[in-house]
Amino acid sequence: MLVSVLKCDTYDINILKPKIKEALLLIDEYKNIKENSKVFIKLNCLGAFHQDLGITTHPLFVQSVIQIVKEKTSNIIVGDNPATKDLIYSLKKNGIYDVLVEEKVTILNGKEETSITSENYRIYQSFNVSKEMIDVDMMINLPKLKTHALTYMTIAQKNLFGFIYGLKKAAWHVKASNPLQFGHAINDLYSAILESYKDKKIINICDGILGLEGEGPGTSGKPKQSNVIIASSDAISLDRVAVEIAGLDYKQQFLNTIANERNLGVGDINKITIKGDSLDDFKDLKFIAPKDSLSIFGLRLIKIKGFRNIILEHPKFDYDKCIKCGECAKICPPHAITIKPGDFPKIKSTICIRCWCCSEVCPVDAISKTKRPLIGRIVLGNKN
Ligand code: SF4
Ligand code: SF4
Repeated sequence: MLVSVLKCDTYDINILKPKIKEALLLIDEYKNIKENSKVFIKLNCLGAFHQDLGITTHPLFVQSVIQIVKEKTSNIIVGDNPATKDLIYSLKKNGIYDVLVEEKVTILNGKEETSITSENYRIYQSFNVSKEMIDVDMMINLPKLKTHALTYMTIAQKNLFGFIYGLKKAAWHVKASNPLQFGHAINDLYSAILESYKDKKIINICDGILGLEGEGPGTSGKPKQSNVIIASSDAISLDRVAVEIAGLDYKQQFLNTIANERNLGVGDINKITIKGDSLDDFKDLKFIAPKDSLSIFGLRLIKIKGFRNIILEHPKFDYDKCIKCGECAKICPPHAITIKPGDFPKIKSTICIRCWCCSEVCPVDAISKTKRPLIGRIVLGNKN
Protein backbone atom coordinates (compact mmCIF):
# COMPACT_ATOMS: atom_id res chain seq x y z
CA MET A 1 0.00 0.00 0.00
CA LEU A 2 1.24 3.48 -0.89
CA VAL A 3 1.50 6.36 1.56
CA SER A 4 3.02 9.73 0.67
CA VAL A 5 4.73 11.83 3.33
CA LEU A 6 5.82 15.39 2.62
CA LYS A 7 7.35 18.05 4.84
CA CYS A 8 5.40 21.30 4.83
CA ASP A 9 5.78 23.97 7.49
CA THR A 10 3.26 26.52 6.31
CA TYR A 11 -0.41 27.09 5.50
CA ASP A 12 0.63 29.56 2.77
CA ILE A 13 -1.64 28.32 -0.01
CA ASN A 14 0.99 29.05 -2.69
CA ILE A 15 3.28 26.49 -1.07
CA LEU A 16 0.68 24.20 0.47
CA LYS A 17 -1.48 23.55 -2.61
CA PRO A 18 1.40 22.28 -4.81
CA LYS A 19 2.57 20.11 -1.88
CA ILE A 20 -0.86 18.49 -1.49
CA LYS A 21 -1.04 17.90 -5.23
CA GLU A 22 2.43 16.34 -5.13
CA ALA A 23 1.26 14.08 -2.28
CA LEU A 24 -1.64 12.90 -4.48
CA LEU A 25 0.58 12.37 -7.53
CA LEU A 26 3.09 10.35 -5.49
CA ILE A 27 0.39 7.82 -4.56
CA ASP A 28 -1.05 7.94 -8.09
CA GLU A 29 -4.45 9.14 -6.86
CA TYR A 30 -4.74 12.56 -8.56
CA LYS A 31 -5.95 10.80 -11.71
CA ASN A 32 -8.83 9.29 -9.73
CA ILE A 33 -10.51 12.66 -9.28
CA LYS A 34 -12.73 12.35 -12.34
CA GLU A 35 -14.16 15.08 -14.56
CA ASN A 36 -17.62 16.18 -13.39
CA SER A 37 -17.75 13.62 -10.59
CA LYS A 38 -19.45 14.48 -7.29
CA VAL A 39 -16.84 14.77 -4.53
CA PHE A 40 -17.47 14.86 -0.78
CA ILE A 41 -14.71 16.54 1.22
CA LYS A 42 -14.88 15.25 4.80
CA LEU A 43 -13.43 17.72 7.29
CA ASN A 44 -12.43 17.32 10.87
CA CYS A 45 -14.81 19.91 12.28
CA LEU A 46 -15.16 18.62 15.83
CA GLY A 47 -16.75 21.88 16.92
CA ALA A 48 -16.46 25.64 17.16
CA PHE A 49 -12.71 25.82 17.79
CA HIS A 50 -10.29 28.41 16.44
CA GLN A 51 -8.00 27.13 13.67
CA ASP A 52 -4.85 27.90 15.72
CA LEU A 53 -5.81 25.27 18.33
CA GLY A 54 -4.91 22.46 15.91
CA ILE A 55 -8.26 20.73 16.53
CA THR A 56 -9.99 21.19 13.16
CA THR A 57 -8.76 20.93 9.56
CA HIS A 58 -7.14 24.27 8.71
CA PRO A 59 -9.19 26.51 6.36
CA LEU A 60 -6.29 26.93 3.92
CA PHE A 61 -5.72 23.17 3.83
CA VAL A 62 -9.41 22.81 2.92
CA GLN A 63 -9.17 25.57 0.32
CA SER A 64 -6.08 23.99 -1.26
CA VAL A 65 -7.88 20.64 -1.63
CA ILE A 66 -11.01 22.30 -3.04
CA GLN A 67 -8.94 24.12 -5.66
CA ILE A 68 -7.16 20.91 -6.64
CA VAL A 69 -10.50 19.08 -7.00
CA LYS A 70 -11.86 21.99 -9.03
CA GLU A 71 -9.24 21.28 -11.69
CA LYS A 72 -11.51 18.29 -12.51
CA THR A 73 -14.97 19.05 -11.14
CA SER A 74 -16.97 21.77 -9.42
CA ASN A 75 -19.54 19.34 -8.02
CA ILE A 76 -18.19 19.48 -4.47
CA ILE A 77 -19.88 19.07 -1.12
CA VAL A 78 -17.94 19.85 2.06
CA GLY A 79 -18.69 19.21 5.71
CA ASP A 80 -18.69 17.17 8.87
CA ASN A 81 -21.02 16.42 11.77
CA PRO A 82 -19.69 18.39 14.77
CA ALA A 83 -20.19 16.81 18.20
CA THR A 84 -22.66 19.30 19.66
CA LYS A 85 -22.72 22.55 17.70
CA ASP A 86 -24.37 23.35 14.39
CA LEU A 87 -21.99 22.87 11.41
CA ILE A 88 -22.34 26.43 10.06
CA TYR A 89 -21.70 27.91 13.51
CA SER A 90 -18.60 25.73 13.91
CA LEU A 91 -17.31 26.50 10.40
CA LYS A 92 -17.62 30.23 11.08
CA LYS A 93 -15.66 29.88 14.33
CA ASN A 94 -12.79 27.93 12.81
CA GLY A 95 -12.55 30.04 9.65
CA ILE A 96 -13.63 27.44 7.07
CA TYR A 97 -17.00 29.01 6.30
CA ASP A 98 -15.53 32.00 4.40
CA VAL A 99 -13.42 29.63 2.28
CA LEU A 100 -16.48 27.55 1.34
CA VAL A 101 -18.41 30.69 0.38
CA GLU A 102 -15.46 32.01 -1.64
CA GLU A 103 -15.06 28.70 -3.47
CA LYS A 104 -18.85 28.42 -4.05
CA VAL A 105 -19.11 24.81 -2.91
CA THR A 106 -22.09 23.11 -1.28
CA ILE A 107 -22.07 22.87 2.51
CA LEU A 108 -23.29 19.60 3.98
CA ASN A 109 -26.65 19.58 5.72
CA GLY A 110 -26.08 16.19 7.33
CA LYS A 111 -29.49 15.71 8.93
CA GLU A 112 -31.02 13.38 6.35
CA GLU A 113 -29.90 9.85 7.18
CA THR A 114 -29.47 6.57 5.39
CA SER A 115 -28.60 3.15 6.76
CA ILE A 116 -25.36 1.46 5.75
CA THR A 117 -24.40 -2.11 6.61
CA SER A 118 -21.33 -4.30 6.71
CA GLU A 119 -21.02 -7.99 5.87
CA ASN A 120 -17.69 -8.03 7.67
CA TYR A 121 -19.01 -6.72 11.00
CA ARG A 122 -17.88 -7.94 14.42
CA ILE A 123 -20.52 -6.49 16.76
CA TYR A 124 -22.61 -3.86 14.97
CA GLN A 125 -23.88 -4.52 11.47
CA SER A 126 -25.70 -1.32 10.56
CA PHE A 127 -25.28 2.40 11.11
CA ASN A 128 -27.42 5.42 10.38
CA VAL A 129 -25.21 8.00 8.70
CA SER A 130 -25.66 11.28 6.84
CA LYS A 131 -27.06 10.41 3.41
CA GLU A 132 -25.17 13.18 1.58
CA MET A 133 -21.88 11.61 2.66
CA ILE A 134 -22.79 8.42 0.79
CA ASP A 135 -24.56 9.80 -2.30
CA VAL A 136 -21.36 10.90 -4.05
CA ASP A 137 -18.79 9.48 -6.49
CA MET A 138 -15.77 9.90 -4.24
CA MET A 139 -14.68 11.09 -0.80
CA ILE A 140 -11.59 13.04 0.17
CA ASN A 141 -11.09 12.66 3.91
CA LEU A 142 -9.12 15.48 5.61
CA PRO A 143 -8.23 14.40 9.16
CA LYS A 144 -5.91 16.17 11.59
CA LEU A 145 -2.89 14.53 13.24
CA LYS A 146 -4.12 14.33 16.85
CA THR A 147 -3.88 12.31 20.01
CA HIS A 148 -7.12 11.17 21.64
CA ALA A 149 -7.83 10.52 25.32
CA LEU A 150 -9.98 7.46 24.57
CA THR A 151 -8.56 5.99 21.36
CA TYR A 152 -4.91 7.13 21.75
CA MET A 153 -4.85 8.80 18.33
CA THR A 154 -7.50 10.11 15.95
CA ILE A 155 -6.42 10.39 12.34
CA ALA A 156 -7.99 9.15 9.09
CA GLN A 157 -10.07 6.17 10.24
CA LYS A 158 -11.47 7.77 13.39
CA ASN A 159 -12.34 10.95 11.46
CA LEU A 160 -15.02 8.92 9.69
CA PHE A 161 -16.95 8.56 12.97
CA GLY A 162 -18.27 11.94 11.83
CA PHE A 163 -20.50 10.13 9.32
CA ILE A 164 -22.88 9.81 12.28
CA TYR A 165 -24.97 12.88 12.90
CA GLY A 166 -24.25 15.20 15.84
CA LEU A 167 -25.21 13.96 19.28
CA LYS A 168 -26.07 10.49 17.91
CA LYS A 169 -22.33 9.81 18.07
CA ALA A 170 -22.54 10.06 21.85
CA ALA A 171 -25.15 7.28 21.90
CA TRP A 172 -22.53 4.95 20.40
CA HIS A 173 -20.37 5.52 23.48
CA VAL A 174 -23.17 4.05 25.62
CA LYS A 175 -23.84 1.19 23.21
CA ALA A 176 -20.11 0.37 22.99
CA SER A 177 -19.20 1.56 26.45
CA ASN A 178 -15.70 0.18 26.88
CA PRO A 179 -12.77 1.12 24.63
CA LEU A 180 -12.37 -2.32 23.03
CA GLN A 181 -16.06 -2.48 22.15
CA PHE A 182 -15.84 1.08 20.88
CA GLY A 183 -12.79 0.09 18.82
CA HIS A 184 -14.86 -2.61 17.15
CA ALA A 185 -17.76 -0.18 16.63
CA ILE A 186 -15.43 2.26 14.83
CA ASN A 187 -14.10 -0.62 12.75
CA ASP A 188 -17.61 -1.92 12.02
CA LEU A 189 -18.58 1.58 10.88
CA TYR A 190 -15.41 1.81 8.79
CA SER A 191 -16.19 -1.54 7.21
CA ALA A 192 -19.74 -0.38 6.38
CA ILE A 193 -18.37 2.84 4.84
CA LEU A 194 -15.90 0.84 2.72
CA GLU A 195 -18.75 -1.38 1.50
CA SER A 196 -20.90 1.67 0.69
CA TYR A 197 -17.98 3.10 -1.26
CA LYS A 198 -16.98 -0.15 -2.95
CA ASP A 199 -17.36 1.21 -6.49
CA LYS A 200 -16.20 4.66 -5.49
CA LYS A 201 -12.90 6.18 -4.49
CA ILE A 202 -11.67 7.30 -1.08
CA ILE A 203 -8.53 9.39 -0.65
CA ASN A 204 -7.26 10.45 2.77
CA ILE A 205 -5.02 13.51 3.19
CA CYS A 206 -3.93 14.32 6.73
CA ASP A 207 -3.40 17.94 7.76
CA GLY A 208 -0.44 17.34 10.05
CA ILE A 209 1.07 20.79 9.70
CA LEU A 210 -0.36 21.85 13.04
CA GLY A 211 -1.18 18.70 15.03
CA LEU A 212 -2.40 18.16 18.59
CA GLU A 213 -0.71 16.26 21.42
CA GLY A 214 -1.57 15.20 24.95
CA GLU A 215 -5.21 14.96 26.01
CA GLY A 216 -6.75 15.45 22.56
CA PRO A 217 -8.87 15.71 20.52
CA GLY A 218 -10.27 18.97 21.99
CA THR A 219 -9.02 21.90 24.05
CA SER A 220 -7.38 19.65 26.65
CA GLY A 221 -4.79 18.79 23.98
CA LYS A 222 -1.95 21.12 23.06
CA PRO A 223 -1.18 22.30 19.49
CA LYS A 224 1.93 20.65 18.07
CA GLN A 225 3.77 22.07 15.08
CA SER A 226 4.41 18.89 13.08
CA ASN A 227 4.98 20.15 9.53
CA VAL A 228 3.76 17.10 7.64
CA ILE A 229 1.21 16.12 4.99
CA ILE A 230 0.35 12.40 4.77
CA ALA A 231 -1.82 10.90 2.01
CA SER A 232 -3.09 7.44 1.11
CA SER A 233 -6.11 5.73 -0.38
CA ASP A 234 -6.00 3.46 2.71
CA ALA A 235 -6.89 5.16 6.00
CA ILE A 236 -5.36 2.28 7.97
CA SER A 237 -1.97 2.61 6.24
CA LEU A 238 -2.04 6.37 6.66
CA ASP A 239 -2.78 6.02 10.38
CA ARG A 240 -0.03 3.47 10.84
CA VAL A 241 2.55 5.77 9.24
CA ALA A 242 1.19 8.75 11.17
CA VAL A 243 1.80 7.00 14.51
CA GLU A 244 5.43 6.47 13.47
CA ILE A 245 5.77 10.12 12.47
CA ALA A 246 4.29 11.24 15.80
CA GLY A 247 6.86 9.06 17.61
CA LEU A 248 4.11 7.26 19.52
CA ASP A 249 3.61 3.60 20.42
CA TYR A 250 1.85 1.65 17.70
CA LYS A 251 0.81 -1.05 20.20
CA GLN A 252 -1.45 1.48 21.95
CA GLN A 253 -3.14 2.51 18.68
CA PHE A 254 -5.78 -0.18 19.13
CA LEU A 255 -8.21 1.03 16.43
CA ASN A 256 -5.45 0.42 13.91
CA THR A 257 -4.47 -2.94 15.43
CA ILE A 258 -8.08 -4.13 15.19
CA ALA A 259 -8.39 -2.85 11.60
CA ASN A 260 -5.22 -4.67 10.62
CA GLU A 261 -6.37 -7.93 12.27
CA ARG A 262 -9.71 -7.64 10.49
CA ASN A 263 -8.08 -6.95 7.08
CA LEU A 264 -9.81 -3.60 6.75
CA GLY A 265 -6.57 -2.08 5.54
CA VAL A 266 -2.83 -2.46 5.85
CA GLY A 267 -1.55 -1.78 9.35
CA ASP A 268 1.72 -3.66 8.92
CA ILE A 269 4.43 -1.04 8.42
CA ASN A 270 6.53 -3.57 6.48
CA LYS A 271 3.81 -3.81 3.84
CA ILE A 272 3.56 -0.06 3.32
CA THR A 273 5.60 1.78 0.70
CA ILE A 274 6.39 5.34 1.70
CA LYS A 275 6.85 7.92 -1.05
CA GLY A 276 8.22 11.45 -0.68
CA ASP A 277 10.19 12.40 2.39
CA SER A 278 11.74 9.88 4.74
CA LEU A 279 10.31 9.00 8.16
CA ASP A 280 13.80 9.77 9.50
CA ASP A 281 13.11 13.43 8.77
CA PHE A 282 10.52 13.32 11.59
CA LYS A 283 12.53 11.33 14.13
CA ASP A 284 12.70 14.28 16.53
CA LEU A 285 8.94 14.82 16.45
CA LYS A 286 7.84 13.28 19.74
CA PHE A 287 4.15 13.78 20.50
CA ILE A 288 3.08 13.65 24.14
CA ALA A 289 0.75 10.66 24.48
CA PRO A 290 -2.58 10.88 26.32
CA LYS A 291 -1.58 10.23 29.92
CA ASP A 292 -3.93 7.33 30.70
CA SER A 293 -3.25 5.21 27.64
CA LEU A 294 -3.90 1.52 28.24
CA SER A 295 -2.33 -1.67 27.01
CA ILE A 296 -4.55 -4.28 25.35
CA PHE A 297 -4.45 -6.14 28.72
CA GLY A 298 -5.78 -3.01 30.45
CA LEU A 299 -8.45 -2.56 27.81
CA ARG A 300 -9.62 -6.13 28.34
CA LEU A 301 -9.67 -5.66 32.10
CA ILE A 302 -11.84 -2.57 32.00
CA LYS A 303 -14.38 -4.43 29.88
CA ILE A 304 -15.58 -5.60 33.29
CA LYS A 305 -17.84 -2.70 34.22
CA GLY A 306 -17.30 -2.80 37.99
CA PHE A 307 -13.52 -2.53 37.59
CA ARG A 308 -13.72 0.72 35.71
CA ASN A 309 -14.72 2.85 38.67
CA ILE A 310 -12.12 1.31 40.91
CA ILE A 311 -9.12 1.43 38.60
CA LEU A 312 -9.60 4.35 36.21
CA GLU A 313 -9.24 8.10 36.61
CA HIS A 314 -12.38 10.18 36.07
CA PRO A 315 -13.10 13.68 34.79
CA LYS A 316 -12.68 16.65 37.10
CA PHE A 317 -13.72 20.25 36.55
CA ASP A 318 -11.61 23.36 36.87
CA TYR A 319 -14.22 25.84 38.07
CA ASP A 320 -11.79 28.75 37.57
CA LYS A 321 -11.88 28.06 33.83
CA CYS A 322 -15.47 26.80 33.47
CA ILE A 323 -17.85 29.23 31.74
CA LYS A 324 -20.97 27.18 32.68
CA CYS A 325 -21.88 26.61 29.02
CA GLY A 326 -23.35 23.16 29.68
CA GLU A 327 -21.76 21.52 26.59
CA CYS A 328 -20.30 18.72 28.72
CA ALA A 329 -23.69 17.85 30.24
CA LYS A 330 -25.32 18.04 26.82
CA ILE A 331 -22.99 15.48 25.25
CA CYS A 332 -22.38 13.14 28.24
CA PRO A 333 -23.78 9.84 26.87
CA PRO A 334 -24.89 8.24 30.19
CA HIS A 335 -25.95 11.61 31.72
CA ALA A 336 -23.28 11.44 34.40
CA ILE A 337 -22.93 15.25 34.27
CA THR A 338 -25.71 17.55 35.39
CA ILE A 339 -25.80 21.33 35.37
CA LYS A 340 -28.42 23.65 36.80
CA PRO A 341 -28.96 27.10 35.19
CA GLY A 342 -26.23 29.49 36.35
CA ASP A 343 -24.42 26.77 38.26
CA PHE A 344 -21.26 24.74 37.65
CA PRO A 345 -21.52 21.19 36.27
CA LYS A 346 -21.46 18.24 38.67
CA ILE A 347 -20.43 14.66 37.91
CA LYS A 348 -21.63 11.32 39.24
CA SER A 349 -18.48 9.26 38.73
CA THR A 350 -20.18 5.91 39.28
CA ILE A 351 -22.19 6.45 36.08
CA CYS A 352 -19.26 7.79 34.03
CA ILE A 353 -18.09 5.42 31.28
CA ARG A 354 -14.79 7.30 30.66
CA CYS A 355 -15.55 8.17 27.07
CA TRP A 356 -14.02 11.67 27.47
CA CYS A 357 -16.64 13.26 25.22
CA CYS A 358 -16.98 15.98 27.88
CA SER A 359 -13.37 17.12 27.61
CA GLU A 360 -13.63 16.77 23.81
CA VAL A 361 -16.34 19.45 23.59
CA CYS A 362 -15.37 21.76 26.48
CA PRO A 363 -14.49 25.07 24.81
CA VAL A 364 -12.12 26.28 27.55
CA ASP A 365 -10.08 23.24 28.65
CA ALA A 366 -11.89 23.08 32.00
CA ILE A 367 -12.05 19.27 32.18
CA SER A 368 -9.04 17.13 33.04
CA LYS A 369 -8.41 13.71 34.55
CA THR A 370 -8.01 12.88 38.21
CA LYS A 371 -4.96 10.90 39.21
CA ARG A 372 -5.36 7.19 38.53
CA PRO A 373 -6.45 5.44 41.76
CA LEU A 374 -3.73 3.45 43.56
CA ILE A 375 -5.31 0.11 42.70
CA GLY A 376 -5.42 1.14 39.04
CA ARG A 377 -1.77 2.14 39.13
CA ILE A 378 -0.89 -1.26 40.57
CA VAL A 379 -3.04 -3.29 38.16
CA LEU A 380 -2.54 -1.24 34.98
CA GLY A 381 0.82 0.36 35.63
CA ASN A 382 1.36 3.94 36.68
CA LYS A 383 0.85 6.02 33.57
CA ASN A 384 0.17 9.29 35.40
S1 SF4 B 1 -18.55 12.41 32.43
FE1 SF4 B 1 -17.33 12.70 30.57
S2 SF4 B 1 -16.11 10.83 30.43
FE2 SF4 B 1 -17.76 10.40 31.88
S3 SF4 B 1 -19.37 9.50 30.63
FE3 SF4 B 1 -19.79 11.68 30.72
S4 SF4 B 1 -18.82 12.51 28.89
FE4 SF4 B 1 -17.97 10.47 29.21
S1 SF4 C 1 -16.73 22.25 32.11
FE1 SF4 C 1 -16.46 23.09 30.05
S2 SF4 C 1 -18.13 22.23 28.86
FE2 SF4 C 1 -18.66 21.94 31.02
S3 SF4 C 1 -19.91 23.72 31.55
FE3 SF4 C 1 -17.79 24.20 32.09
S4 SF4 C 1 -16.99 25.24 30.27
FE4 SF4 C 1 -18.85 24.22 29.62
